[in-house]
Amino acid sequence: MTIIRVGTLIDGTGAPPVRDAVVTFENGRIEAVTTGPSGGRSGAGEVIDAPGLTLLPGLIDCHDHLASHGYEMAKRWGLDEPRSTSHLRTAAVARTILESGYTAVRDAGGLDAGFRVAMNDGLIVGPRLVLSLAIISPTGGLGDRVSPSGHVAPESGDPCLPPSVADGIDAIRTTVRTMVRAGADQIKCATTGGASSRAGHGPRDCEYTLEELKVLVEESHALGRRVMCHALGGPGLRVAIEAGVDSIEHGCYLDEDRELIPMMVEKGIFFVPTLLVYEYHRESPAPHVRERAHALRAHHRDSVARALEAGVKIVAGTDAGGHGHPNNAAELPLLVAAGLSPMQALQAATSRAAECLGLQGEIGTIEKGKWADLVLVEGDPLRDISILTDARRIKRVIKGGATVIAR
Ligand SMILES: [Zn+2]
Repeated sequence: MTIIRVGTLIDGTGAPPVRDAVVTFENGRIEAVTTGPSGGRSGAGEVIDAPGLTLLPGLIDCHDHLASHGYEMAKRWGLDEPRSTSHLRTAAVARTILESGYTAVRDAGGLDAGFRVAMNDGLIVGPRLVLSLAIISPTGGLGDRVSPSGHVAPESGDPCLPPSVADGIDAIRTTVRTMVRAGADQIKCATTGGASSRAGHGPRDCEYTLEELKVLVEESHALGRRVMCHALGGPGLRVAIEAGVDSIEHGCYLDEDRELIPMMVEKGIFFVPTLLVYEYHRESPAPHVRERAHALRAHHRDSVARALEAGVKIVAGTDAGGHGHPNNAAELPLLVAAGLSPMQALQAATSRAAECLGLQGEIGTIEKGKWADLVLVEGDPLRDISILTDARRIKRVIKGGATVIAR
């Protein structure tokens, strides 16, 4: 049994902070949350006294690409280094993310199920993983890897990341089933281009018909998998929401069609804005990417503000990977700048994020029965959310009751 006594507890539910809290856990799970000097049973077990620190649930990123290490074509296609080197690079990223206070990550494409096996076997350390494996899109879509000169990316030959280009409802059903067979926890698809997609295929350009996407959602749900959909704007964004995906990733132009946000509320669709990646794209060396990132900025902020006001469930994601692996918490000050309160931003990276992952019974709050995924922070993140990006202030990270790092 382990007892942590802290100056302040923020439990992730949105409830106000609690002073002088005591959290007890055993066998990896939280047994009790109490207050006061007599809280927690005395007796055997480790006691962590942290009267000056704030305890939070482990943070969660709902949109990351752990196995991506750059937008350049050589990196995207895996041409610049041996695959084993790249895998070890990814393992190092997983460790860094965990040590920064992120105890769970949903990977939005590129990470294969072998990493989860390696983690379960104790070969590498990292956050809990929710995997999507690869992005399902049609010919010419986001996941169709063709160079500007028309060359097609070398076939990966990696059965852990199955081919993800699918045209028409039969191919879509097969591809969803193939992803699930290869270990996907959720299904990732794309119904529009993006800021960084090839020139000529931009944020409002549609991929997939409503009929096709309905089948994708139906098949995913039939197999017990949620659907996370890359959709920035235009008719493809509407197709995604009408088809009933579970989360809209990016959603930059949600403000342009006034019917969409109410539909998201009605259907309980999560919104994962990933504001951080567009900060990077505004400085992109590629003119068409830069231009798109500038054009969408005001819309994106407006979309977040309107979604928040309407009651859409907003969760935190960074889209890290292509733009390197900055601190995942860098998304949180951007959410606050877009209109969330610091408490709402924390919920977006804890309880709300756990809901988006379908793990609300397991993680995301500090409550009896949940995994003891905990972060001890120096300072008050409700006063300044950006302190969470400062590794020196992350004093201890605990995953499943085991201390990962203590500073
Ligand atoms: Zn992404």
